Amino acid sequence: MAKVRKLLLIDDDRVQQRLMQQLVKNFRSGPFELDGAFSYEDGLGKLKSGKYAACLLDYRLGDRDGLALLREARIDGCETPVIVLTADDSEEVDIAAMEAGAADYLVKGGLTPRLLERALRYALKLDETLAQLRELAQRDELTKVLNRREFQRILDEEWDRSVRFKRPFSLVMVDIDHFKRINDTHGHQTGDEVLRHVASLLAGQVRNVDRVARYGGEEFAIIMVETERKNAVDGVKRLALLLAEAPCIVNRELTIEVTLSAGVASGQADANSAIELVAAADRALYAAKKAGRNRVVGADGTMIAFKQD
Ligand code: GH3
Ligand code: MG
Ligand code: MG
Repeated sequence: MAKVRKLLLIDDDRVQQRLMQQLVKNFRSGPFELDGAFSYEDGLGKLKSGKYAACLLDYRLGDRDGLALLREARIDGCETPVIVLTADDSEEVDIAAMEAGAADYLVKGGLTPRLLERALRYALKLDETLAQLRELAQRDELTKVLNRREFQRILDEEWDRSVRFKRPFSLVMVDIDHFKRINDTHGHQTGDEVLRHVASLLAGQVRNVDRVARYGGEEFAIIMVETERKNAVDGVKRLALLLAEAPCIVNRELTIEVTLSAGVASGQADANSAIELVAAADRALYAAKKAGRNRVVGADGTMIAFKQD
């Protein structure tokens, strides 16, 4: 059976709420369940919960403005598609609704189940397409981990959060050792395979809340939230040991052992800004390379070699 999708109707008029229930019941496509909110505050709270596939929003909510509610929800990052309902047909309202972030606008008087259903179908499809586009824009094409731009956005966000709530977080810069040799010996396609292998191991092994990004070339960045430097260093050691046990196997015949070097710096202990934090992790990574690779170095100088030569 098709999954029931929840819709939200924000309208202070009880008659209108009942009327809409009838319309939704007569939908031909998929089962929908309509939930009601009767006031601005209740509506805003429910919309921002992110539980709804789409929202129908009355243009006039008593003496409050439905579009103001929509703007407020969008500022708070709510992406739920919203269709604005109005009593009268006006081009000004249509444009204002669109600018506030509405997917569509419908005039209540002429509403039929078919018309409403069609508007919903388009709004849901647009929402799905936008989500796919966002996903594409955030990912590195080769490795599918986050790209550099998304890394920067999350790093700035984490930095601010860490300052505001006085919570620690760590940044790990990881660089594959002697990667050029792999390219030179086995070719770029094999090099690409190794990059995918390392990325997928890192992304698969960090906690759900942590983020892995491709920083550039054969360099990855990991943001570990709520993690002190020492624990991040231990975490990197665990990842490196797992990688040592899981070499990259290309075309089922070629086994490539990969090692990595890493530098770890933490907010707020090692830097005064997000930019400084990247620089501190980079310096630690450089120290790891200089000391012989296949090891992690913390911004405080701690060094753990992953394997004795
Ligand atoms: P080190 O241990 O000092 O890090 O040495 P390295 O060889 O790993 O580092 P170096 O910076 O000298 O070489 C990195 C190489 O990574 C050079 C570049 O051609 C290669 N590279 C960058 N991006 C890609 C990619 O997307 N695919 C492949 N196959 N190679 C890439
Ligand atoms: Mg390298
Ligand atoms: Mg490099």
